[in-house]
Amino acid sequence: MFSRFHKAEHAWMVKCLYKRIRGFNIRYKRDLKERLRRILRSTNAIPIVVLDEIDPEGLRMTRLQKTIIVERDVENLVKFHGGVFIKKRVSGKYCPLCGKRMRKYRRTKRLELYKCACGVIIDKHTSTCYRAVLWIVVKHSPELVQRVKEKIRENIENAPVH
Ligand SMILES: [Zn+2]
Repeated sequence: MFSRFHKAEHAWMVKCLYKRIRGFNIRYKRDLKERLRRILRSTNAIPIVVLDEIDPEGLRMTRLQKTIIVERDVENLVKFHGGVFIKKRVSGKYCPLCGKRMRKYRRTKRLELYKCACGVIIDKHTSTCYRAVLWIVVKHSPELVQRVKEKIRENIENAPVH
């Protein structure tokens, strides 16, 4: 998805990382850092990394601490590559195209699908990602919002999840 958004004329690039609280382990952390490093190296635009903030409520302290360590690692990596690191709570429950609140549709082994009244069916994490992208675009390049939304619509139509 990120590479589809990457255009030389844009001075931005947006990436999201999903923190997996459950199943957390050292290998996961290493994989995550390696993947992020590869993405950061692959672009010549200034990377903007939006990290979906965790909701600390209900988390055990140990898990929370581990997550904070990942956040710090991600922040350091991003800054090392000259990028912008932003922590923000983003909800994937709202439609990335029309903004309406979506309804739970179906759950597969890996995906949590949501459906919007406008017809969009999308995985919650993918939606979160798009919404983070849009949040940045609205903030920094509002004139591109329509184009980005068209791209998102294209992506959704070309890769149906149902
Ligand atoms: Zn919608």
